[in-house]
This record gives sequence, C-alpha cells and structure tokens, in this order.
Amino acid sequence: MTREPEGPARLSPGTVAVTAGRPTRTPDSPLNPPLVLASTYAAGGELEYGRYGNPVWRAFEEALAALEGGGRALVFSSGMAAATALLELVPDRGRLVAPRHAYLGVLAIVADAQARGRVHSDVVDVADTARIERACERADVLWLESPTNPALEVADLPAACAAAHANGALAVVDNTFATPLLQRPLDLGADIVLHSATKYLAGHSDVQLGAVVTRDDELYERLDAYRRKTGAVAGPFETWLALRGLRTLHLRVERAQANAATLAERLAAHPAVVRVRYPGLPGDPGHARAAAQMNGFGAIVSIELADAAVADAFTDKLSLWVNSTSLGGVESTLERRRRWPGEPHTIPAGLLRMSVGVEDVEDLWADLEQALP
Ligand SMILES: *Cc1c(COP(=O)(O)O)cnc(C)c1O
Repeated sequence: MTREPEGPARLSPGTVAVTAGRPTRTPDSPLNPPLVLASTYAAGGELEYGRYGNPVWRAFEEALAALEGGGRALVFSSGMAAATALLELVPDRGRLVAPRHAYLGVLAIVADAQARGRVHSDVVDVADTARIERACERADVLWLESPTNPALEVADLPAACAAAHANGALAVVDNTFATPLLQRPLDLGADIVLHSATKYLAGHSDVQLGAVVTRDDELYERLDAYRRKTGAVAGPFETWLALRGLRTLHLRVERAQANAATLAERLAAHPAVVRVRYPGLPGDPGHARAAAQMNGFGAIVSIELADAAVADAFTDKLSLWVNSTSLGGVESTLERRRRWPGEPHTIPAGLLRMSVGVEDVEDLWADLEQALP
C-alpha cells in the first residue's frame, strides 16, 4: 500500500525545515524535543527498548519525511548502515542495477555482495537512460544516485523509476547530494530515498547518521524490522544534533548553492582548469535534466586539473579550503577523489570534488585563485 503525501503539505520547504517534528505546544512544553537517553522504557508502551525506538528518532524522522514530501522515515547509525539495510531488499541471487559512479562505500558493498554471489549487479552509467531501461528488464532493485558522487552525472529519475516499475523492480535513490530541498525522488517515482544525514541534513561535520524514507507501508515495516533486529541504531544525541542542523537546512543550502554557482563559473573561465562538472552550468551534460527535475543545482562542484600532481600542489596551497573527505558541512572542503584506492579509474586522477560551504564567496574565490597554477 502506498501512502499519499501528508502532513504540512501547504507550507514551503524552508518553513517545514523549521517547524516539522516539534513537540505539541502546551504551557511550558519545550520548543525542541528533549534529548532522551534511554536504553529501556517502562513496559507496556510503544517504545519498550532503546533499539526499537527513541522520541528523538521520531522527531527527526517526522521532519525528514515531511521534507521529502510525505511518507515515513527511519534513521540509522550512518548512511552506510541505511544503505546496507536497503541492499538487503534484494532477494538472494537477485538482480541489482547499480551506478558505476556513486558513493565509494555503496560501490564497495555492492561489489562484495556480487563477489559472494549474494546478488548479481549490473553496473550502469546513470545518465544513460536507454541502458538503464535494458538493465531493468530483469532487475529486482534499481539503485540510483543523482547527481552522482563525484562525477555529478544526472539520471532521468522519472524515466528510470518508470523503467524499474514496468518490470516490478524497486527504485532506490540516494538523495544525499541534492537534499530534499532541491530534489524529491518520491515525487519523481522512487520507492525509497536514502540519505547520508552526516552530510547536508546535519550539516556541521560533527555527526554520523543515515536515513531512509518511503511512502510504502510494507517496505517501511521490512526496514523497521531489519533495524530492530540488526541493531544499526542511531545515537539519540547524534539524532538530536542532526535535527538541530536540519532547522537551518534551507539557509545553508541556499547560500552554499549560490556560492557554488559563482565559483563554478569563475573556475570554468580559468585556463588551469581542464573541466568543471556542475549541473548548474548551461554547458554541463546534466544541465537540462537537472533543471527539469530539481529545484536547484546544489553545492558540489568537481573540477579537473591537469593531473594528480598538479591537483595535489593546488590543494597544498589552499588555506581557507580544508583538504578532507566528506561534504555538506558549513565549511568548504575539497579532496582529490583518486587518492582513495577504490575510486573507479573512470574518475580522472586530477579530479577534485569541492563541497562549497557558506563562507563569503569572495574569500573562497581568493583562496582558490592564489592556489591555481
Ligand atoms: C557519505 C555518503 C554515503 C554514506 O554515508 P555515511 O554517513 O558516511 O555512512 C552514502 N551516499 C552518499 C552519496 C554519501 O555522500
């Protein structure tokens, strides 16, 4: 059974980010859900045990589901814990269609599952809709990321999800890069949305957290049962911090995205930059699709410098930008992705993934400009 979008549907997303998942207003009630540190609860209620539920989880889940346009969310201890729960939806020896470029941890668990014979995976370029349609003919689950990490390819989500459904497959979309403010995969046809809440949702580089959202009650029950049994549960404090971060998601994304657009344009005009990948640039291969299915182009920009040595020398000269993995925090970070041995070799050695933060854009540009060759 599929749930229709519900909740504060008439409020704009920024208002939902501020208001969803609050306690009922009664005299002296706190405005924020209090942090509840409990491994057990007095018997006879809905929660019973810390691995089964927590009031802070519920508040975060309510807020995230409202942002995704309705449905129900489940919080996990990390994005990878959530991804592992979703991979379990593929039946034994079932068929998974997976992206060739995606978050490295996701590529790794898919490759492991394939090596063990647990699943058969068919790896596709998410931008190649015809290829996805062919791959979906025998699939159980279509797993997409869009825009992809770190290549920033854009999938045609409505067409790809329709291809999955035409063959009875489930469509999973990792929405970490876009956030629910810029893209709502459930509205575009996805059955399940995956988030690394570690990134934009929490937003301050101090929390590890993941989540899934679905409007399908049966899928929700399966994933809830999986979480209860396997125990990849979120810490109440981490969840509380992520909910606190979520309250400013719209402000952070708006500013970071505006900074990214300015920097992408300037970088594209710089002679030392071989290529800029950013769906917001009119010449980007994903531009038209992103414009059709997203409310903005996000704040991740990938640039290619001549080679690994040039990219590393550039990175070493930066002082404001932090050389670090991960993304989606208030601070601007970047990293050369091929420094990770598992990164696919179709990602150029000189590619730097930049997570543009919310600092002053002229300060960010000055630091980049002085470091470029
Ligand atoms: C970081 C990330 C993940 C994994 O999340 P963790 O919270 O690090 O476990 C999954 N997908 C994408 C797109 C990510 O960026």
